[in-house]
This record gives sequence, structure tokens and C-alpha cells, in this order.
Amino acid sequence: MRLLRCPSCGFPAWLESLDCRACGAPMMLATATLTMVAAPGAVDDGGHALVACVNRGWGCNWSLRADSPAASCFSCRLTRRRPEADDTVALERLAETGKAKRRLLVGLADLGLPVEPYWHVDGGLAFDLLSSQSGQGPVVIGHAGGVITIDLAESLDALREQLRVRLGEPYRTMLGHFRHEVGHYYQWQLVERPAGRLLDECRAVFGDERASYADALARHYATGAPAGWETGFISEYATMHPWEDFAETFAHYQHIIDTLGTVAHGGLRIDASALLGTRTQDIVPRTSYADAPMAVALEDWQWVSYELNRANRAMGKGDLYPFSIPVAVGRKLDLVHRIVTASAVPVPFIGD
Ligand SMILES: [Zn+2]
Ligand SMILES: [Zn+2]
Ligand SMILES: [Zn+2]
Repeated sequence: MRLLRCPSCGFPAWLESLDCRACGAPMMLATATLTMVAAPGAVDDGGHALVACVNRGWGCNWSLRADSPAASCFSCRLTRRRPEADDTVALERLAETGKAKRRLLVGLADLGLPVEPYWHVDGGLAFDLLSSQSGQGPVVIGHAGGVITIDLAESLDALREQLRVRLGEPYRTMLGHFRHEVGHYYQWQLVERPAGRLLDECRAVFGDERASYADALARHYATGAPAGWETGFISEYATMHPWEDFAETFAHYQHIIDTLGTVAHGGLRIDASALLGTRTQDIVPRTSYADAPMAVALEDWQWVSYELNRANRAMGKGDLYPFSIPVAVGRKLDLVHRIVTASAVPVPFIGD
């Protein structure tokens, strides 16, 4: 994640910022340049007039071209189904969930992964963001044919934490859900649909995705992850089926590359003297690993995550990254890295 700045005074802004914390100036994200511009109207570097998303009152700080026939931004328009207009409780959850969705999209842009929206192509990306607490039945988180379904109720901390504990997961966030589900989408788009060499590699590394999913699901919930899973998988859930292994690995790939990029943009580096004598060179995280092998990112991540875990523990919290990456998972991440970099466009881009 790049370092964003107030267009008025230059003070650092959050990706979610509606107003500057220093000078109070209202701002919005220009998606073509991934920079903050003045809200509710501005002209971007390309000379295009921009206006604020119609959902700004619900916390969306993105903009869109003033000459667009749409009223809402690219992120909001990707939401194909949402709660009813009178379901204000669910709409509040939609607003909260929108933050994670927008962060997902910026992360994908930074990776150079194009998002083809569902209104452009059959099987393009869409989101059904519905609440299991709206009284219309359960909402099952998942991906099918380009449509990612998310249960908005999980943006309630108490509910999500309850599920996390019950399922024995070390980490459960809305952003994590989005990054996992988009992993299914990209495996389908970049690996299965082209059905080329990468599909053979995927089957060799993750297993054959044609194995029965229903059988895998039943087995997983009956017997749990196999003993010794930690040496081959990033999580217990990843053991269930090759599709879930890929999606879990793809989510971690985004966690790792985005967090490394974030601290790199912030200027963080770790002095070699702090590295327990294991290295003579400082750890200098990169804003992009597109031109580096995954091993370089994993070496940086080993130390950066260690320091961030120490910082979290200093605050009385659990590890920021409560996972370890065995050699076999490193190989899976390497394949994901090669899939992503082979498909990446050179300039970060968010649709409009
Ligand atoms: Zn400011
Ligand atoms: Zn919006
Ligand atoms: Zn999944």
C-alpha cells in the first residue's frame, strides 16, 4: 500500500480517509492515479474532472469521472447485490465491509492484476454483499463464476471473533475473506480458463482440483486437518481441497506483498545488527517484488513479520502474522507469484 497524502497540506492520509487529520480538508481517492485529491470535486493528472462517489455519506471516499453516466465509484458498482434500502443495520455493515473491499482492490491494482467487472464480460468480477442477519436466510461466503459472496454480519467484531475461536483459526478478518475469495476468482481466470502449463503446475503443487469438493468438505468437517499438516499447508482450512489450498495461499500472498509494500513506502528497514548475526546486509523491504523471485520477498517477510509480531506483542496483542511458512508453502507462494507476475499489467490500474 502506497503512502497517501492530503492534497491540501501533504499530511499522510489513510486509505479510508474522508478528511485530513491535520488540516481537515475533505479528500477522495482518484482511482486512475491512486492519489488523494480534493473532495467533492477535482481534476486529476490526466485532466479529467472527478466527482465524489454517491456513497460518500456511507464512508466511501472514492471518486469517479464527472462525465461517467454512473453515480457511484468502481468499487461500489462492483457490488451487484446489497441489502434492501430500508435495512439500515445491514447497510452500516455494508459501509464497514466496503473499506475492506476497497483495500482489496487497491492491493490487486498494486499487483498489476486487472479487474474485469461483471458488466464488461461474462464471468467478470462481482460482489454479492448480503447479511445473514437480514432475515432472508443464511449467506454462504464463497465464489462462483466471478461472483464473490460475503456475509456482511461477519463485519461485526463479536460475531467474527466467535466464529474464529469456534473454527480454531488464528486470523479472521473481512479483508482476509476478500483476499481468499478473490484467490478462487483468479485461479479460475488465470489458471483454469487458459488451461495451459500453469494448470499442470498448479496440479503438481496444490493437487488435482477435479477431486470431489463435496467429499472433501464432508471429510474436513468430520475429521479435521490431517496430523502434521503444518509442514505442507498455511492453514488447516487449506488442507480441505486443492482449491482451498490455492485460495488460502493466494490470500497470504496478498497479505505478505501488501504489508511489505506498505512498510517499504513508509521507509521501514531493519538494520543487520538486529538480525541475530544471520545476515550482514540490512533488510530493505521493496515497494514491488514483481522483478524479484518469491524467495526474496519471503526472506524480507521473515524479518519484517518478526518485528511486527514483536510490536503487536508489546501492545498486549497476538501476533500480527500468526503463521509460519514451511518450505512446501514457500513453493506454493512461489507458484502464485509467478502466476501473478505473468499476468500483471505494468501500470497499477483500477477500472472506472
Ligand atoms: Zn491536510
Ligand atoms: Zn463508492
Ligand atoms: Zn474458499
